[in-house]
Amino acid sequence: MPSEKAKDNKALVATCVACNKTQSTELMVALAGQENGRLRYFPVCVMCAEDGWRPPNFNGIYTFRPR
Ligand SMILES: [Zn+2]
Repeated sequence: MPSEKAKDNKALVATCVACNKTQSTELMVALAGQENGRLRYFPVCVMCAEDGWRPPNFNGIYTFRPR
């Protein structure tokens, strides 16, 4: 459920790369992995992360996105 803050600011949403749903960034985490051999952060929602979704070559870094 989006927070009041997120409803006020449409920029505070991001699309989960795992389920393709648009979520408040408060419900997103960025998982560091690699794409084409380069470090990349993959924004996924907390639900997918807790479900065990991990990016290719996940390097163990699990951070909350900056607000
Ligand atoms: Zn998701």
